[in-house]
Formats: sequence, structure tokens, C-alpha cells
Amino acid sequence: MDKKVEQYDVVIIGGGAAGLTAGIYCGRARLNTLLIEKSLVGGLATYTNEIENYPGFPEGSTGLGLMELFHKQAKKFGVKFKLTDVKGVSLEGEKKIVETFRTNYEAKVVIIASGGKPRLTGAKNEDLYLYDKGISFCATCDAAANTGKTVMVIGSGDAAIEEGMFLTKFADKVIVSVMHDEGIMDCNEIAKGQALANPKMEFIWNSVVEEFAGDGHLNEVVLKNTKNDSLIRVPVDSCFLFIGYLPNTELFRDVIELNRPGYVITNEKMETNVPGVFAAGDVRDKFLKQVATAVGDGAIAGYGAEKYIAESEIFESQIMGSELPGIVFLWNAVMPECRALLPVIEAFEEKYKGKIKVTKVDIYKSKGLADRLEMDEVPALVYIKEGKIIKSRKGSFTETDLEELSAL
Ligand SMILES: Cc1cc2nc3c(=O)[nH]c(=O)nc-3n(C[C@H](O)[C@H](O)[C@H](O)COP(=O)(O)OP(=O)(O)OC[C@H]3O[C@@H](n4cnc5c(N)ncnc54)[C@H](O)[C@@H]3O)c2cc1C
Repeated sequence: MDKKVEQYDVVIIGGGAAGLTAGIYCGRARLNTLLIEKSLVGGLATYTNEIENYPGFPEGSTGLGLMELFHKQAKKFGVKFKLTDVKGVSLEGEKKIVETFRTNYEAKVVIIASGGKPRLTGAKNEDLYLYDKGISFCATCDAAANTGKTVMVIGSGDAAIEEGMFLTKFADKVIVSVMHDEGIMDCNEIAKGQALANPKMEFIWNSVVEEFAGDGHLNEVVLKNTKNDSLIRVPVDSCFLFIGYLPNTELFRDVIELNRPGYVITNEKMETNVPGVFAAGDVRDKFLKQVATAVGDGAIAGYGAEKYIAESEIFESQIMGSELPGIVFLWNAVMPECRALLPVIEAFEEKYKGKIKVTKVDIYKSKGLADRLEMDEVPALVYIKEGKIIKSRKGSFTETDLEELSAL
């Protein structure tokens, strides 16, 4: 069966907070935008009952309610949605392809916003108590709901111990299950010292989770002693798993640059190492994974997509696609030495009107164009003929230099 082919300016993979925000920015910039989501539009945030730390909602909001607003706003700006799984990508070159079971979507820009998933223990009945049924993955999100309660933390790495200490500000007791011998933890020494001295924290050494139990909601964690296999039944109100987080990046292995644990590496503009491919939200290697930061990333990626497409059009039609030979003047409006050259280039443009096309590129606004012209300094000149870069030069210039460069 031949696959259908559809064309878009931008395809966004993943419909969580990051993807939806990128969609709002792209849609509002009048880019023809498609968002592909494989399960629930709204992403991980829809699994939480209460989001109290997203600004603008002083009374808090349910995750689902908040994400419905994001979805509505993206639809308002014309973003199209497809509920299907992305199966493959081809991201090299100007035309990117995003493959699903029935259709190949072609795009000028792809934004990866596929998020991640917390690692699970694999213990018995774990799937019955996930998220609002008592097993949580986010102390920042769910600590307040555990005020005065007894909670368990699984893990002893930096995240487990630091989040565990944060939980002691709310919960009466935080019981930490550690798989190592007494006193051995995977976190840094400072966190370890503080945790061991914290009167609200208790430790169960040499233990792993055997089973989660409850009656609709989790009320007991059954631990197994790794030395003698004995079972320890611990009554709890909630259990927080901090045993790692897995980014949804299987599709991008060997396609874009990932760090060791598999997160996408971006710069502060959310650009990946592949031109025209951006990443936003929890899928990125970043300091804080929250809705507020996913929104910031999505906004930057959406804005970046718009700029990338505009620059591609200028590059292809005005610079490389011009019938006349062309001179590109790369400058920066805030640099006096660049501004001093404007009268020289403008006089040259006037003198050779109809013979040579002059394009001025302010690299402060259009750094991407300078990259495509392989120029990293200003002022600079690039001479282009029949769609090819023939010569370039850096530094100040006179009218004679311009004439020599363009063989006039
Ligand atoms: C239980 C819980 C409670 C939380 N509470 C809070 C809170 O109170 N406050 C807060 O700020 N943050 C909270 N967070 C964190 C917050 O949910 C995340 O930081 C946020 O959802 C990240 O958004 P995202 O768009 O990057 O990724 P996600 O929300 O993970 O969205 C990624 C989307 O991509 C989709 N996807 C993945 N692969 C594919 C594919 N191949 N094809 C198509 N679609 C794909 C997924 O289905 C998913 O919907 C909580 C997280 C959890 C788990």
C-alpha cells in the first residue's frame, strides 16, 4: 500500500505542554502546522489532579483542565491534530519526513516534544496505583497533597534524597527504601548527611519493592529484604518513585545528538544539531522538568521555527535563486564599523543596478543566514553566482574591493 503524503510548514511530535505551546506560536505565525500525538493531547500533565505551581492560576487547576485550555488555544490558531504514533523520521536536508502508519508528513521544520516517562519498579500491582492512585513521580507537584501524611520514597540518588527532604516539609514521615547496605546511598555526600540527620526521614536498607497494595488507592508498600528475602509490609499514604526517567527518544537515536541517558541536546534556542529540527520540553537535557519550563521551551521552538522558515525562503529565493549574480553584505547594526560601510555598499548597489543584486543581512536578527553562508564574523561580503558561493571576504572594504570580488 502506497502511503499518503501531506505537506506542512511545521510538524510537531508530541502534544504535551511543550508541543501545544510550540503549536500556539507556529499557528499564530500563520505557519501550516500539524501536531501528532500518540495517546492523550495534554501529555503527562493530564495525569495529575492538581497543578498549583503554574502561574496565572492562583486557585490551582487540574492537569487535564489546564491542558484543555492549551489545546483550545492551539486549535484557535489553526493547528491541525492527528492522533497517531510517529513510527520513523528522516530529518536530514531541507525536506523533513515524519512517518506514521498510513501517512508520510513532509515539513520544513520538525519540533520534537515527545517528553518522557518515569521509570517504574516492575513490582506486582504497580500499574493499579499509578499517578492519582498513590504512586507519584513528582514531589514538587504532589508534596502539598501529602501534608501530615506518611509517604515512601523509592531510590537513593540525588533526585530521591533531595525530593525526599522536600517532602519532609509537608509529610509527617518520609520512609526511604534503599537497595544498598546501611549508610550506602547513591546521592552526593552533602544530601546524604542532611537526610540521615533529618528526624522526619527513616530508612529501610537492603530493600526493593515487591508489591503495591491498597483498596482503590495505595495504602501499603510491600518491601523485600535483599539479604534474606523476608517481606516488610509498610503502611503509607503515597509512594514516590525516583529511580530514573526515560526520554521518548528511541526514534531519534542515530538521527540527532542525544546525551548518554538519551535526552536531546539543544542550545538555548532549542535548536538541535540538525538544521530545522528543534526540541522542547521534558525530552531535552534540562535542569527542571515542569509545565512552566515546557511552555518556555515550546515558545522558543515555535518562534525559532518561524525564523528558520523565513530565513530559508530569503536564502533560497533572494540569495541563491536570484537570476543576477549577487553580493551579500553581512553586518550588525549595533557595530559602528559595520554602519560606516553602509554608504559604500549602497553606492555600489546604485552604480550596478540591474547587473548585480545586493542583499544586506543583519546577523543580529538573522544569524541563521550567516551560518548558511558559512560566515561567522562581520563585516563580511559573499559573492554568489548561479546559486553557488564563489568568493567571500571578511573585514572592511572599499568600492574597488567590491568590484574585484564580483569581477566587475
Ligand atoms: C504525576 C505527575 C505530576 C506532575 N505535576 C506537575 C505539576 O504539578 N506542575 C508542573 O509544572 N509539572 C508537573 N509535572 C511535570 C509535567 O507534567 C511535565 O514537565 C510536562 O508534562 C512536560 O511536558 P512535555 O510537553 O515536555 O512532555 P509530555 O507532557 O510528556 O508530552 C509528550 C507527549 O508526546 C507524546 N509522544 C511521545 N512519543 C510520541 C510518538 N512517537 N508519536 C506521537 N506522540 C508521541 C506522548 O504521548 C506525550 O503526550 C508532573 C508530572 C507527573 C508525571
